[in-house]
Amino acid sequence: MIFKSLVSFLVLSSALSFGQAFAPADTASAPASVPKKPVSFDLSAIDKSADPCTDFYQYACGNWKKNNPIPPDQTRWGRFNELAERNNYLLYQELKTAADAPKTALQKKYGDYFAACMNVDLANQLGVKPIEPALKTIAAWNDRKTLATLLGTMEDKYSVGFFFNFGSEQDQKDSTQQIGAIDQGGLGLPDRDYYLNQDERSRTLREQYVAHVTKMFVLLGDTSQQAAVEANNVMTVETALAEGSMSRVARRNPANVYHVMTIAQLQTMTPDFDWEVYLTAKKEGSLKTANVVSPDFFKAMQQQFASTSIGALKSYMRWHTVHRFAANLSDPFVNENFDFYAATLAGQKEITPRWKRCTAATDRALGEAVGQDWVAQNFPPAAKDNMDKLVHALEVALGQDIQHLDWMSEATKVEAQKKLDAFRNKIGYPEKWRDYSPLMVKRDDPVGNLQRSIAFNDRHDLNKIGKPVDEKEWDMTPPTVNAYYNPAMNDINFPAGILQPPFYDFKIDPAVNFGGIGVVIGHEMTHGFDDQGSQYDAQGNVRSWWTPEDKKKFDERTDCEVKEYDNFEVAPGQKLNGRLTLGENTADNGGLRIAYQALMSTLAQEGKEVSEKIDGYTEAQRYFISWGQVWCENTREQAARLRAKTDPHSSGEWRVNGSVQNFDAFGKAFSCKVGQPMMPEHSCRVW
Ligand SMILES: [Zn+2]
Repeated sequence: MIFKSLVSFLVLSSALSFGQAFAPADTASAPASVPKKPVSFDLSAIDKSADPCTDFYQYACGNWKKNNPIPPDQTRWGRFNELAERNNYLLYQELKTAADAPKTALQKKYGDYFAACMNVDLANQLGVKPIEPALKTIAAWNDRKTLATLLGTMEDKYSVGFFFNFGSEQDQKDSTQQIGAIDQGGLGLPDRDYYLNQDERSRTLREQYVAHVTKMFVLLGDTSQQAAVEANNVMTVETALAEGSMSRVARRNPANVYHVMTIAQLQTMTPDFDWEVYLTAKKEGSLKTANVVSPDFFKAMQQQFASTSIGALKSYMRWHTVHRFAANLSDPFVNENFDFYAATLAGQKEITPRWKRCTAATDRALGEAVGQDWVAQNFPPAAKDNMDKLVHALEVALGQDIQHLDWMSEATKVEAQKKLDAFRNKIGYPEKWRDYSPLMVKRDDPVGNLQRSIAFNDRHDLNKIGKPVDEKEWDMTPPTVNAYYNPAMNDINFPAGILQPPFYDFKIDPAVNFGGIGVVIGHEMTHGFDDQGSQYDAQGNVRSWWTPEDKKKFDERTDCEVKEYDNFEVAPGQKLNGRLTLGENTADNGGLRIAYQALMSTLAQEGKEVSEKIDGYTEAQRYFISWGQVWCENTREQAARLRAKTDPHSSGEWRVNGSVQNFDAFGKAFSCKVGQPMMPEHSCRVW
């Protein structure tokens, strides 16, 4: 699968950011208690001793932060997590029932998947056995010329890939078509910067990483001396790959990640890897062209293939094989994997309970199978109808916002409106569910199940190459607490999982609803017009629809946000990266503004008194508090640092304080004085 760097999410889920690393577990086989249902607009969360004009986040969330310490099995704990935990719990109940007494063939399938994952005795009994065939295949390899055969076999038979990623993606120049894409990959640390930065903290983390890799080799049976040599080999190969990798910031620009070439050209660039052999093993032997996403990476990879010893390349592949499945093997592997990836890198105190890991794993493997039953139980049709109305209100507000911009010419406004009119909205769950019948699941083969599910999803992805795009497909499973905008599809997507309190309750105060899900909708729409999205047209093709003067003004305005967010600190000495987070910050700022306009128009249409107070707060105040409280969270310092390097989203504190200080309606709502922190004299505005 290709990591879709150009798709914008509302939050970065842990599954996305750290792969399987957040899914180790063994401590509990069943939940200790039922997670409470989160509430919208929580008066008890407010810290009335704080001045909303000085630090609005502290005002909206201060008491919540004080009363909700981070649970030991989490690295960040916020309102999002509360809801995700509850969804996960409801999903767990469904899976447990399906595992014990399935009523349909589909329930039998996902029930077996879950039951196999939950079987800790079986995992411990099997030990390293499930990956032994894969390790033996690597051990037997001894001819540099057959590397492509080896990689094809490892992916095809054992569902483990090395060095790079191969998958499908929408063509930037013709978004109706799917093309092959070959991208950088193959690192064990979360970002290239972890290999390249020379500060003390990064150096220490590298030492800890090498120590972790060493321990994993020892678990595979190496002597400690052998293991240390092998771990150093891994570090050398990965550092070379990191040096060739494109940065996250550079990858935000669509032009930087589009290099369609013939396979023959790619072959010339990487003479030591036989692409025809590899592609044939992947059943894509007829592929003639592909997007080579990051050409410099492949030059670095070629160097490795040409000059690194076979022994070192084997160390690297052996490591990635055990790393890929560590969380699914016996306890020693699970615990060692937890120690580095969750505890050291992100500050997690305790291993995640097994029931949570297996619930999330089953959702990842069979999301649209488990999602069908979850939606039937947890997503009433009325919730969907009401969302349609909300989305429409936000579309009208964004249209008005565009029309009233004083910095944009009429010509560009016409194009922007065209793009807005072409938005596709997807709400709740897919119209057509995926067919899982070809996927074989066995109750006594947890690692095999994972391998088959990876292969099944990989096949599904590769089968798209050369075919028209399926506009109805989803990239998220229904219980997910998240949302996304895909610029190539020009669509906004809201899974059923997020359409609940604290984000959404169609029966409550509209001010609270607009401050929650309203801003989420506005956020996703604004992604269509952020630093990335603005480069795509109404059809989802990369094409400039801007006049040069307007584009210049747009860039000046986004530069203002870059500088502003560059100064926000998330841990001692650790600031946000304004370029990395630009799209998300633009989306938060735009979303907050247009949802406010949509609320005010809705209230005016209904003839409601705009200043009506509830709980002592005006409509506008409740709106902003609702927005602030969506982001109440506590984060461990290590996780805050990790996110600052890898997550395109700002921390909760700055998502709130950054966006309200750029919107004068906030200062007015709370009677702030110009010059106070939340109502600065000069602020940034794009949309
Ligand atoms: Zn977003």
